[in-house]
Amino acid sequence: MPYVNPPLQRRVFLRNGTLVMAAASCGAAPLNATQLYGDETGDELRIGLVTDLHYADKPPGGSRHYRKTLGKLEEAGRQFESDNPAFIVELGDLIDAADSVATERRYLNTINREFSQLCDQRHYVLGNHCVDTLTKDEFLGSVGQPKSYYSFDQGDYHFVVLDSCFRSDGQPYQRKNFTWTDANIPAAELDWLAADLKATNKHVIVFAHQRLDLDNHYAVKNSAAVRKTLETAGNVLAVFQGHSHRNDLNEIGGIHYCTLVAMVEGATMENNGYSMMSLSPNGTIRLKGYREQQDRHLLKQ
Ligand SMILES: [Zn+2]
Repeated sequence: MPYVNPPLQRRVFLRNGTLVMAAASCGAAPLNATQLYGDETGDELRIGLVTDLHYADKPPGGSRHYRKTLGKLEEAGRQFESDNPAFIVELGDLIDAADSVATERRYLNTINREFSQLCDQRHYVLGNHCVDTLTKDEFLGSVGQPKSYYSFDQGDYHFVVLDSCFRSDGQPYQRKNFTWTDANIPAAELDWLAADLKATNKHVIVFAHQRLDLDNHYAVKNSAAVRKTLETAGNVLAVFQGHSHRNDLNEIGGIHYCTLVAMVEGATMENNGYSMMSLSPNGTIRLKGYREQQDRHLLKQ
């Protein structure tokens, strides 16, 4: 079942110096065919994507400009408003670490207030930084999402949100109890994934934070087992992921693994990165990348 957040208050923003009221309407369920497949080509399902925002009210650390994320997200919001996606997804690391639960909650509330204005239907992938000080329940409770991994259908597509924030011993990440290189998808989640993929005859798109196309320290430790599960299902077109903060694209076993650029990197708006994905009924994926995000044209293998 798609999770639809409750309607939000009207958004107030300035356009040419005039105060404008607008509803966050994209993805409001139920969708009609025009909303589902867009009004330009008439056959596309559009989804807004952002990743690695790392919002925090603290000074920059190296190339990471934590406070700048708010303005960058606002820019992405203006683009999304004109593209009118069915829903939006953030691929993890929405916030950066704080030294107390109260401060980290404040970071989360600030960035989520902005993110929530972009679209009524939103999906949050857990990143390691999301649960550095918070527990998963605290994070998910704050953003109003019942589960850390789940799936939903929209149009001709089935979407899967994965949670790789588990230690090798199966314990969930929380409150600085983990090292970020020890990312895993535990047996119970892998079993759920196999059964979930088997039960659908739609095209499948997977959203993840940590890399599933590598076998180094940026990768999920059991990424080979996860890839095998995805390949065995035979219906997975692509995996969209974040975590390494740079553009990347690999094709393994007939599945595209597309890594999106991080929003937090760089001091200026030119360093921003976000994208609008368009899905055709035949399984063709087009990614329109903005600023540092590269365009992609991925064909069904
Ligand atoms: Zn990150």
